[in-house]
Amino acid sequence: MTSTPTATADRPHRAAKRYIFAWGDGRAEGDATMRDLLGGKGAGLAEMTNAGLPVPPGFTITTEACNDYFTSGQQLPDGLWDDVLEAVHEVERTTGKGFGDAADPLLVSVRSGAKFSMPGMMDTVLNLGLNEQTLDGLVALTGNERFGWDAYRRFIQMFGRIVMDVKGERFDHALDAAKHARGVQQDTELTADDLRALTTEFKAIVREDTGREFPGDPYEQLDLAIKAVFASWFGKRAVDYRNNQKIAHDLGTAVNVVTMVFGNMGDDSGTGVAFTRDPNTGEKVLFGEYLTNAQGEDVVAGIRTAPKISQMQTDMPQVYGEFLRIGEQLEKHYRDVQDLEFTIERGKLYMLQTRSAKRTAAAAVRIAVDLVAEGVISKQEALGRIEPAHVDQLLRDQFDPAARASAPRIAKGLNASPGAAVGRAVFDADTAVDWVGRGERVVLVRIETSPDDFHGMAVAQGILTARGGATSHAAVVARQIGKPCVAGCHELVIDYRALTATANGVTFAEGDWISVDGSTGEVFVGALPTVSARFEDQPELQTILGWADEVRRMQVWTNADKPEEAEMARRYGAQGIGLCRTEHMFREGERLEIVRGAILVANAATRAKTKTAAGGTLTPDEAGAVAIFDTAMGKLEVLQQGDFEGIFRAMDGLPVVIRLIDPPLHEFLPNLEEQLVKVTRAEMSGGATDEDKELLATIKSMHEQNPMLGLRGCRLGLMIPDFVKVQTRAILNALIVVKASGGHPKAKIMIPLVGHVNELKATKDLLEAEAKAVEIDAGIDVEYVFGTMIEVPRGALTADEIANHAAFFSFGTNDLTQMTFGYSRDDAEGGFLLKYVEEGILPVNPFQTLDDAVAGLMKMAVDKGRATRPDLELGICGEHGGDPESIHKCERIGLDYVSCSPFRVPVARLAAAQAVLASAERDK
Ligand code: ADP
Ligand code: MG
Ligand code: MG
Repeated sequence: MTSTPTATADRPHRAAKRYIFAWGDGRAEGDATMRDLLGGKGAGLAEMTNAGLPVPPGFTITTEACNDYFTSGQQLPDGLWDDVLEAVHEVERTTGKGFGDAADPLLVSVRSGAKFSMPGMMDTVLNLGLNEQTLDGLVALTGNERFGWDAYRRFIQMFGRIVMDVKGERFDHALDAAKHARGVQQDTELTADDLRALTTEFKAIVREDTGREFPGDPYEQLDLAIKAVFASWFGKRAVDYRNNQKIAHDLGTAVNVVTMVFGNMGDDSGTGVAFTRDPNTGEKVLFGEYLTNAQGEDVVAGIRTAPKISQMQTDMPQVYGEFLRIGEQLEKHYRDVQDLEFTIERGKLYMLQTRSAKRTAAAAVRIAVDLVAEGVISKQEALGRIEPAHVDQLLRDQFDPAARASAPRIAKGLNASPGAAVGRAVFDADTAVDWVGRGERVVLVRIETSPDDFHGMAVAQGILTARGGATSHAAVVARQIGKPCVAGCHELVIDYRALTATANGVTFAEGDWISVDGSTGEVFVGALPTVSARFEDQPELQTILGWADEVRRMQVWTNADKPEEAEMARRYGAQGIGLCRTEHMFREGERLEIVRGAILVANAATRAKTKTAAGGTLTPDEAGAVAIFDTAMGKLEVLQQGDFEGIFRAMDGLPVVIRLIDPPLHEFLPNLEEQLVKVTRAEMSGGATDEDKELLATIKSMHEQNPMLGLRGCRLGLMIPDFVKVQTRAILNALIVVKASGGHPKAKIMIPLVGHVNELKATKDLLEAEAKAVEIDAGIDVEYVFGTMIEVPRGALTADEIANHAAFFSFGTNDLTQMTFGYSRDDAEGGFLLKYVEEGILPVNPFQTLDDAVAGLMKMAVDKGRATRPDLELGICGEHGGDPESIHKCERIGLDYVSCSPFRVPVARLAAAQAVLASAERDK
């Protein structure tokens, strides 16, 4: 398939720019490469036409026209309307019909279409060009009065809602009432007379609601519809969607004007949606739904439950065969799974849309692996096809199999988007947002969803709908945003007024816990326990990540404090521990008591030790403090050594970066206010214990205005050296023990929060002496290195000096971000930061995605550090280490590894590979 030469040839135009690209009669002016200008839909229609596929003629008004429309204050650019008229005339010539011609009317659809497909975000108007006169023509030509009136009532309904802003429900109610009056279930059972009466009613609704007549002039209809498509680009739901998906707001939408073909001409006609492979599992089978005698969005909206596409094989074998061939052709051509929309008019197939299919994480991975096996794409392309979020989803929780087996299942619907969702039932999107704002977890339960529900879907744990199939709005959107979804759960009767839902005799109300399994379609009452998804059971994911490992330059390490975490990370592919936070070990069980005991006398004991060192004699009190302190520290040393042995064993042969104590000591003590209240209360009722009073005094004495900027990190180690000395001894002795038992431990001792080289130097001197003592005791040399965290701006600025004393740097980007911005993270994230991001004062939350200025500081430190010490090892251990976008920045900065929490390791492996591919792309 190559594009025709007309693609580049200019087209005569009245407007200052060329805004129109037409297609028809097997030739198109645009092609698949022009998505920016034509939008995805327009580019696809052009490409399909060029490929000789049956596409009804039409034209695209470019995204540029949309943008110019907004720059000129919502006016069509000068001359554009003339160019539209010329394009309409062309379509008239191709089809032999006339726009507004009562004898042989040309009807069109007016369809939006941006560069990125935004399912359901922008509305399409069908059957445009109908009025009382052209309707007569349509009926005369088709000899089908019922069809004519059905087309007309649909047009008024759609145009009224989308272009004239009439509340859609008003039409729905009228339609329901008509069906009710007739005693029928389906709109297909209404007669021509019923539909004629309905159009009169619809027009009255328009008149009442808008104060104006429904426009009869086709050109006026077209003008209004084009403007409505443009306007919808900045409609709330489109803006919400783009915000959520991080799509730029200045892309604009194209408008596609397409000759109508009719799927509602009887049982030899129909309309459908299909994927060339199953978008849930990735299996290579045609997947989709279709409805006979139906038009447009009937399938997607779940008006009637549509049969599976395979039914078409029985109903219309020839058309099915042709469709299958077209699907295969398009898949090969685009080298990806396609999502197709089609209509059959009296046995003739028309293609109305093709685009790359949205898919679940599982499908994405399977399809990528299959396409490589089929020789369609390369491994590197396959890597580009997987989103980091997909990997994340595959590692998401599932329901505990034992619990689900015995759980009260109340209904079963379609397994529309996999995963386990547990939350409290809410019945509308606004409530979902409110409740989630209060810290609740919710499942959004709707009869069906529409784009207006997007904000609720985005915050819900999962989505449950009573109507609609596997290609319904709920299903498509849920798959895309990675939420579990059960759709089309017909057994469920939802009462919006009572805020209840009932199925098989069981009712749940707003606020009740429910569990929804998007993988099986099951719905349970109550909150089912979940289990984590097993990485081991996902060979295709492992294949992809294996390819990522071949491509990536940076290593992926993990932040793990316990042997179990280290083991899990290792299974996920971690190549080392980039951050082992020793103080996390202080908080567990009996340890906290020991640590508190030590802290209470830490200052006294440290002073006493200084006195002894200077040749002084201790008072009995001082000697007592030293004894208590040393006993506590001795216990801690034994416990920590055990911890380290466990970690070294779990990470046998791989590097382990152990950070020495970092947080301010008060974090290990009770809260000042609580202790004050406790002592005060006790004093009022007979007196507090000495212990409590002492504790209170200690807490008070350690109180700091800004603890995060106070006595912590290396400063703490320098003030109370025993903490870090004990830790160093524990690390070295653990190395000795593990090595003696045949292991291959590799330790890197990390000194945190260094801002001045002397802090590092003094700490290192202190600890090297301690290490030497351990080595002498054991009679062997132990292998280990010292390095530092770069997390204070001054540290980054003086990295050349610091590198003289550090074998490695690990960027602590949480602190580095706090201190570069001058924000306290806890206060910022809980407060103004959200607003900042919302209002665009900051582009993103810098604690989630590495800020460019912070990255710049890192780059400076990297350059300076390497200038001093070319073999300096460089990594990141802040939370950014697991964020794909930040990982790209780390690649550009030239780090050796990223370190992230264990469950982010697979994501980081992929992102690190994609970062390499992206820089290769940039360097081209
Ligand atoms: P969306 O962007 O929501 O997918 P579309 O523009 O693709 O909207 O239109 C939705 C549906 O309307 C199509 O899938 C198709 O069934 C129907 N449709 C659009 N244009 C035409 C047309 N010219 N003839 C027949 N049906 C059409
Ligand atoms: Mg479509
Ligand atoms: Mg830090």
